[in-house]
Amino acid sequence: MTTAPTASHYIDGSYAEDAAGTAIDIIYPATGEIIGRVHSATPEMVERALASARRAQPEWAAMTGMERGRILRRAADIIRDRNRELSILETYDTGKPLQETLVADATSGADALEYFGGLAASLAGEYIPQPGGDFVYTIRQALGVCVGIGAWNYPTQIACWKAAPALACGNTMVFKPSETTPLCALKIAEILTEAGAPPGVFNVVQGLGDVGAALVNDPRVAKVSLTGSVPTGRKVYAAAAAGMKHVTMELGGKSPLIVFDDATLDDAVSGAILGNFYSSGQVCSNGTRVFVQKGIRDAFLARLCERLSTAKLGDPLDEATNFGPMVSEAQLSIVKRYIAKGIEEGASLAYGGKRQPGPGFFLEPTVFAGVTDEMTIAREEIFGPVLSLLEFDDEEEVIGRANATEFGLAGGVFTNDLTRAHRVVARLEAGTCYINTYNLAPVEAPFGGVKASGVGRENSKEAIAHYSEVKTIHVAMNGVEAPF
Ligand code: NDP
Repeated sequence: MTTAPTASHYIDGSYAEDAAGTAIDIIYPATGEIIGRVHSATPEMVERALASARRAQPEWAAMTGMERGRILRRAADIIRDRNRELSILETYDTGKPLQETLVADATSGADALEYFGGLAASLAGEYIPQPGGDFVYTIRQALGVCVGIGAWNYPTQIACWKAAPALACGNTMVFKPSETTPLCALKIAEILTEAGAPPGVFNVVQGLGDVGAALVNDPRVAKVSLTGSVPTGRKVYAAAAAGMKHVTMELGGKSPLIVFDDATLDDAVSGAILGNFYSSGQVCSNGTRVFVQKGIRDAFLARLCERLSTAKLGDPLDEATNFGPMVSEAQLSIVKRYIAKGIEEGASLAYGGKRQPGPGFFLEPTVFAGVTDEMTIAREEIFGPVLSLLEFDDEEEVIGRANATEFGLAGGVFTNDLTRAHRVVARLEAGTCYINTYNLAPVEAPFGGVKASGVGRENSKEAIAHYSEVKTIHVAMNGVEAPF
């Protein structure tokens, strides 16, 4: 299979190239080899993409929801038919094991297109009766041109999670993938065209932050949806605010996962593994602060290390591999610096911590025990396979410590005491909470953060409100009275 894209950008229904843009090498994280090259969008490419999205929008919005939805659902079917091919591409783009991409990436993108495709025909307003037979009705309208900006950990899923609700509501989109993973969004654009989306409805331009900034600052843009880090979120939110634009911010986290001593040990260990090592730890909602109650701390740590010793690192295209490389040398270096900091600040390295010899950006799953709340590794988002184990005595104490962070993306609790489970999650300052499970994100459920972790929600019916606005229409059925 060839991984090199047909061209760098996808504009107005077809591939587009402008070799004058800075070259960006596409690197396969498992080997460090260059597998393709794209060019950053020049101002001309950005202009073409925005102009195309602007031109296409009124006509797209004028189609019925049924018609738009049918196109999105057709795209979902095509994605499912090509799941293996798209999963292999996702593995080349990100390095994530094929075992994982086959079930988590194109499939969840297809779910989003199917779900919002299904909702598109039902986007309706309200009828509000008034005295004397007068009434008010509301209609839900598209915002216009939306910009999507993606992180590198889920390039297919992020493109679909943004495109599906935006397009269902009658908006058009210009999407900029992370420059680290430029391949997958192009395929989604190609498939939307094949499914019947008119030219300009979904465009992709490549580039670094400067291209993202050019899109965000353009006056034709009505809404910006970013998946990225908190520092980038602050910049993008500020730029959008200057133009009074709508935003969705899906940002980083440092989520708590609380394990009480009555939890089913192996389930809690599974939760910690899913919440720290899936996608080599490069997941925003990860429960990287694992608070374990003192009574089961030793048993938990022993079982966790035992289970981690069965992780299979290696060729991500081998379906037996379940732990892949970091996405880039740069991300690997960031994570290694955090590991060094953890050791320096006195945490005890209980498992892993080393780079794997040989090519590629492989880092062992890593566990720190004896972590305290003030250590850097317990405060900052690492975005790699590093679990911090903290101990606690009682419920009140752990809730306070769990909430003592600027982030608020997710949180989890493992316990067999049902009332305690609900009591604890009710008090966690997080957009998504889990009881006796971790890191699920089905499209039917809202997803997003509180505090510095974000603004707005993706997925579910909630996302509709973030990609449309309501117009209110007052209708008089009687004569009009005036004071003079
Ligand atoms: P970054 O914040 O570095 O980048 C995110 C995107 O924003 C990239 O496409 C980047 O371009 C672009 N960008 C950077 N600067 C600007 C700017 N000034 N204006 C417009 N766009 C800009 O995040 P990463 O790609 O490193 O992804 C990791 C982060 O994403 C983590 O913090 C993680 O928690 C978060 N994340 C959040 C999720 C959520 O749903 N809450 C899900 C997944 C990840 P480029 O990188 O090409 O320069």
